[in-house]
Amino acid sequence: MSANAPGQAAGIDVARSDAIVVGAGIVGAACARRLAEAGLRVTVLEREAAPATHSTGRSAAGIRVQFSEAVNVLLSAASLDEYRAMPEAAYRPVGYLFFVPPALWPAHLEGYELQRSLGMPVERLTPEQAARIVPARIDDIAGATWCPADGVLDPHGIAMAFLAEARRLGAAVRLNAPAQAIANAGSPAAARWQVRTPAGTFEAPVLVNCAGAWSGEVGRLAGLEVPVGPARRIVFATGPRVEPRVFPLTVDAGTGFWFRSEGQRLIFGLSNPEDTGFEEGIDWPWLETAYPVGLERFPWFETLDLDRKASWWGYYEVTPDHQPVVGPMPGAPGWFNACGFSGHGVQQAAAIGRVVAAQVRGQQPFVDVSSLSIERFAAGAPAKRESLIV
Ligand SMILES: Cc1cc2nc3c(=O)[nH]c(=O)nc-3n(C[C@H](O)[C@H](O)[C@H](O)COP(=O)(O)OP(=O)(O)OC[C@H]3O[C@@H](n4cnc5c(N)ncnc54)[C@H](O)[C@@H]3O)c2cc1C
Repeated sequence: MSANAPGQAAGIDVARSDAIVVGAGIVGAACARRLAEAGLRVTVLEREAAPATHSTGRSAAGIRVQFSEAVNVLLSAASLDEYRAMPEAAYRPVGYLFFVPPALWPAHLEGYELQRSLGMPVERLTPEQAARIVPARIDDIAGATWCPADGVLDPHGIAMAFLAEARRLGAAVRLNAPAQAIANAGSPAAARWQVRTPAGTFEAPVLVNCAGAWSGEVGRLAGLEVPVGPARRIVFATGPRVEPRVFPLTVDAGTGFWFRSEGQRLIFGLSNPEDTGFEEGIDWPWLETAYPVGLERFPWFETLDLDRKASWWGYYEVTPDHQPVVGPMPGAPGWFNACGFSGHGVQQAAAIGRVVAAQVRGQQPFVDVSSLSIERFAAGAPAKRESLIV
């Protein structure tokens, strides 16, 4: 039987396969590709008319191994190995540079030691050394860390390449196919996830929830609580500059203000913790907060002009502890979550595809992702959270 072979269930036409992936962003694409590679007949259901138009197509495209949690270091490092070998990923090792104030320095150094212990080429710099890479005010900076292997990618190119590979292996990618209702048409022990969309009804014993910021909503369609929601992020862009210098992804760790070169422009941003919910569009008033924060650390920003048309917005898909939810859903056999990457999904997607494909087949993933299980929320707020969030 080919993927999407029609069948009959309760009087409706149903296209059956081995696994349904909801969402064709970079995470869904990575999962679809690895599941298809494992021999499963995969159906990808995407709400929009094209893949990768949401968080994936709107990200700042950074990849780094500088995290405080080992699982994040390992997932990014494993993904980086894949992306290096993919022309479509257009990996550019421009580096990530963190300027760190005294209050955060001890914890930041713990992260640095962890990254080094995992073999990552992260360097510890004095404030003066860091300011030679990126000019900055450093009188209140305790130190800096720099990883020259960190860099930027082409998330859209990666997602399209993963989907092309999935298709080549027999996967069906259904666009304009929003999941509108999800039910278990099987039994509590042996599920048959039936997904109703305007493009038809699809059924499989495995469903992978890769719906990004909408993963909580997709969970609710099946009566499941998946703690993932949207948090709007704005990327402001300057006009083209004449200076040829390429700036790394630079983070003022005390405030979270970040910037990097994008072609001849700089792009920059600052998270607004109040900006949760499905608000759309660029929050221009937020510039009045973000820009002065950046100017404080990087006074030379004063010379830059803003290009409103080149700026953009998108959703982070966040969880309460800024760590993704990856793995089987308790009480819902065959249901897997791969969502809530909280701003790190591009850089972790390649590895997550492998992790999810192993979990679906009942195998141990190559990275221990037990800390990303949804069960961590069962006993209230998880004790540990990623602290190097941008
Ligand atoms: C401004 C910004 C900067 C970022 N910077 C970085 C960065 O530097 N590095 C990094 O690693 N990450 C970054 N991220 C985060 C990264 O973009 C995401 O973590 C990643 O793209 C998540 O991929 P995804 O496939 O899970 O989600 P998405 O790309 O959002 O894909 C989810 C898909 O699910 C579809 N969908 C939703 N509901 C349904 C439904 N009911 N039925 C069918 N389909 C549905 C959507 O249409 C969408 O296509 C950034 C994000 C933003 C917004």
